[in-house]
Amino acid sequence: MSRVYNFSAGPSMLPEAVLQKAANEIMDYEGSGQSVMEMSHRSKVYDGIIKGAEALLREVMGIPDNYKVLFLQGGASSQFAAVPMNLMTKNHKADYVLSGQFSTKAYQEAARYGDVKAVASSKEDTFSHIPDIDKAECREDADYFHICMNNTIYGTLWHQLPDTGDVPLVADISSCILSQPIDVTKFGLLYAGAQKNVAPAGLTIVIVREDLIGETLPGTPTMFSYEVMAKNDSMYNTPPCWSIYMCKLVLEWIKNDIGGLTKMEERNVAKAQMLYDFLDNSKLFKPCARKDSRSIMNVTFVTGDADMDAKFVKEAAEAGFVNLKGHRSVGGMRASIYNAMPVEGIEKLVKFMADFEARNA
Ligand SMILES: *Cc1c(COP(=O)(O)O)cnc(C)c1O
Repeated sequence: MSRVYNFSAGPSMLPEAVLQKAANEIMDYEGSGQSVMEMSHRSKVYDGIIKGAEALLREVMGIPDNYKVLFLQGGASSQFAAVPMNLMTKNHKADYVLSGQFSTKAYQEAARYGDVKAVASSKEDTFSHIPDIDKAECREDADYFHICMNNTIYGTLWHQLPDTGDVPLVADISSCILSQPIDVTKFGLLYAGAQKNVAPAGLTIVIVREDLIGETLPGTPTMFSYEVMAKNDSMYNTPPCWSIYMCKLVLEWIKNDIGGLTKMEERNVAKAQMLYDFLDNSKLFKPCARKDSRSIMNVTFVTGDADMDAKFVKEAAEAGFVNLKGHRSVGGMRASIYNAMPVEGIEKLVKFMADFEARNA
């Protein structure tokens, strides 16, 4: 068996130990005589899986009891609509920060449901940093304030959260969930597609403060109602059963093999630092994100020459480092180094980049 180092932005690598455990259990889950893929979501054995996944997520992330955890479908992109449908219900206003492509999409989708305002943007700097926020632009009567915590395409991260006063802070954490500890109490709502750091595609996690659940905008589909989903323990209909099971295995890996999110963060920071240190000293490659905004999950860089970029991506793939091409909208390179990327994957990539530089600079 030969596995590559996969730098894909999502779906992305899963921990090898998790894949192995899933493989061992695939024909017969804990003596049930069935695969998790085949069992009824209403069965007792599956109930243990979904409840176990939620309990572990609460433990690992430190989610307080006054927050609901929802296991949904439709991806983070569905939450771009579900968030306003469930939260823009009082004053029908929400403030958004535009820090990249996904936050812009979230803003555009929310604009279909009410009065949304882009209070800050770093678009004119090609989203190379998290924008500063002028408090005078923010509305005290907004129903919520939305950010995208880690900007997957541009490789930037909010290192300090905005102070939104009494306005609930909502964050898309699709590409940074479980990468470091996060103070859930600072947020009204967090959401994430699972396919970056949690599980295979198909599962979307929503963590929402109970008092924000209830009313929905007229016409909200039942499937988009947080209240309906919360009342039914995410089982109003068939949940993404397999992905939730894989989520449980990944959480067990973080808890038992890594030792929790503080340890996970240490490992992730060390990995990212190795790559940024190399880029900062390289004569061929240049990092894209501003230093104060650098992501520890997605590292973006260029050579400044599109042909050289393409040559690098091609030769890297041949050497077993795949999916290093930047997002189609920005070009260049991006190394997505989520939780499951082993330290040695970065060590070997840096060595390959140094060799490539020596041959081409
Ligand atoms: C990948 C990603 C999305 C889109 O997620 P889907 O599950 O494909 O809808 C949204 N936001 C961020 C930050 C992402 O990284």
